[in-house]
Amino acid sequence: TATLIDGKAFAAELRQRIADEVTRLKDRGITPGLAVVLVGEDPASQVYVRSKGKQTVQVGMNSYEHKLPAETSQEELLTLIERLNSDPAVNGILVQLPLPAHLDEAAVINAIDPAKDVDGFHILNVGLLATGQKAMVPCTPLGCLMLLRDQLGELSGKRAVVLGRSNIVGKPMAQLLLRDSATVTIAHSRTTDLPELCRQADILVAAVGRPHFVQADWIKPGATVIDVGINRTETGLVGDVDFAAASQVAGAITPVPGGVGPMTIACLLANTLTATARVNGLPDPEGLTP
Ligand code: NAD
Repeated sequence: TATLIDGKAFAAELRQRIADEVTRLKDRGITPGLAVVLVGEDPASQVYVRSKGKQTVQVGMNSYEHKLPAETSQEELLTLIERLNSDPAVNGILVQLPLPAHLDEAAVINAIDPAKDVDGFHILNVGLLATGQKAMVPCTPLGCLMLLRDQLGELSGKRAVVLGRSNIVGKPMAQLLLRDSATVTIAHSRTTDLPELCRQADILVAAVGRPHFVQADWIKPGATVIDVGINRTETGLVGDVDFAAASQVAGAITPVPGGVGPMTIACLLANTLTATARVNGLPDPEGLTP
């Protein structure tokens, strides 16, 4: 049976390294600060924002939470972002998505100072990543990359299939794998012969958002499977992969919960640290960037 990729333990170790680095920065009079903006009362978003704030403080950073009512206007939100952009105590800015429908998500994200864009969703960071330049890299794919490198070492020449083409997971994941010289295929809702395609993958990343979507017989024996999905079902949280059956075939696999999920927030803290180092003219912290 497959090796369990323990994202929870990996994330805890990562947070410890970040906390040590924060201590060193504080000795030089620098305290990293992360501002999280939540508009409205989406219950899942509230949970995420709460854990982000808690973990930010736990690694010794300052956390600034801005909770705005659902009816906040585009102008009000942009005014807040402007203020955070020019606040030297704020090194990272995260606007929790999704935003209420009346707000223009792309315009809001592109208003964030790219140097403080710790989610890596600003078009400048997307372009920098795509062209192999120093960027802010989206947290979930960055976490997946760290797990893959830890599990496999070299990714060069491996066949990777990424299921899902979203801007927050699928596309940046594919970019990162490409950057590590994997042979990357992006599959999506219109892809034909999906099982056959998946069976060719040494690395299979599932970011679809459908419970138990990936079947055991889609998996190449010995493959490394990264399950990004977080699906709430009657039986609790499940991933996009039929975990019980898949772990009989895969070489290594992430569980849900306890796999990719904890890595995402740890990488958010990593990005905040990186942003802080860069704005202070210090080298990027070791092992936290791709
Ligand atoms: P999304 O809805 O934006 O994208 C889903 C993608 O899946 C789309 O590109 C779509 O083309 C593809 N898809 C849908 N049906 C398909 C099908 N039948 N066959 C093949 N592809 C299909 O979702 P997202 O934001 O990328 O998130 C994906 C999943 O990952 C969700 O479950 C989400 O909750 C989870 N997620 C987890 C984390 C984390 O921290 N672990 C972070 C972000 C998202």
